Amino acid sequence: MSFIITPTPVAGAPVIWLIWNGDKVLLRAGTLPTQRDALALTATRFIGMAGEHACFSGEIVGAPPADAHWLGLREALLLHDFPMQQALSRARLLTLFDRQHRFCGACAAPLLDNGHDMGKRCPHCDTLYYPKVSPAMMVLIVRGRELLLARGPHFAEGVYSALAGFVEAGETLEQCVHREAHEEVGVHIESLRYAGSQQWPFPHSLMLAFTADYAGGEVVAQEEEIEDARWFDIDALPPLPSKISLAHWLITRTAERIRAATGR
Ligand SMILES: [Zn+2]
Repeated sequence: MSFIITPTPVAGAPVIWLIWNGDKVLLRAGTLPTQRDALALTATRFIGMAGEHACFSGEIVGAPPADAHWLGLREALLLHDFPMQQALSRARLLTLFDRQHRFCGACAAPLLDNGHDMGKRCPHCDTLYYPKVSPAMMVLIVRGRELLLARGPHFAEGVYSALAGFVEAGETLEQCVHREAHEEVGVHIESLRYAGSQQWPFPHSLMLAFTADYAGGEVVAQEEEIEDARWFDIDALPPLPSKISLAHWLITRTAERIRAATGR
């Protein structure tokens, strides 16, 4: 099962509604609703097929009904499988785009929907706007059977993760990975390999994950961003970030690959 972006839903597909109140999504009887009921919604749109389900999103207008149960986006992602996580991320990004792009940033005229895509256009000065996706990278540095993991000051207690950082304007992904590795923990890396990606709608990141081999330098944690950084043997890993995170997938998959390659 996967999430597929298409212009129109598959005929006769069962429907799921992702109805937003700020950054919270509506649940009915513990699940995402299959009907919009009589709710007044704005910014309604079809967002794609999550497996067999046609997913629609919209934002509630005015006060929500008293019996509504709202779930935060992070909790909603934790509750759902990967295709529905993608649907939730996409719905959230597009809803946020609608809310934050009602007027042109250059001339303040009201924006119009492009119609043929997700963009908006200013009828006065022709400036185009598209939903924002901000690339960020993550790198897991490998040295034999050891992984270099770090923890930030806001991490849950004991949790360590791969290094991560936002791509600077004008920078390539590869440059970003090398820069962040050197800035955050003081090491040099080589043999950069792309591993996978994930939409991370807090608020609009696209995480791109890499592995790399350690190529030298002593581990020195950057004081402002990194509380601690150290090498962990793959058989003695610390608590990792949430199972829905790309970091968890990257670290556990890399550890499995090293085990498979070394036969132990
Ligand atoms: Zn304009």
